[in-house]
Amino acid sequence: MEGCIFCKIARGEVPAQPVYEDSQVLAFRDVNPAAPVHVLIIPKEHIPGVLSITEENVGIVARMWEVIPKLAGELSVAELGFRVVVNSGEGAGQSVPHLHFHLLAGRPLTWPPG
Ligand code: 5GP
Ligand code: ZN
Repeated sequence: MEGCIFCKIARGEVPAQPVYEDSQVLAFRDVNPAAPVHVLIIPKEHIPGVLSITEENVGIVARMWEVIPKLAGELSVAELGFRVVVNSGEGAGQSVPHLHFHLLAGRPLTWPPG
């Protein structure tokens, strides 16, 4: 989608630090990390957020989940523990309207989250 920062990253128009890529999914380091390990997992196609997941696009969402255990292993946080967060809507802190999972690790992750 024109103007979407994560679509631009997916198209290679805005630089990012990728940690995983396939034909459908991209993962890259968050520019403003909230933990020592903070990676964003996105679909390459523009899905605005959780509320836009449908029967048609849920396959790519499943693929995003499939990438997470691979990333946890490659980033050496599987044993330590990690958190996957999805913010939906401005009230929950979603600032980029392109679906993304945050993978956070490397510091104590308290519960409930703020
Ligand atoms: P949200 O607040 O929507 O849940 O998460 C958006 C995340 O995207 C934030 O953690 C923010 O730091 C990150 N972010 C926003 N713009 C960019 C960018 O241009 N590059 C990278 N790597 N991360 C970004
Ligand atoms: Zn987008």
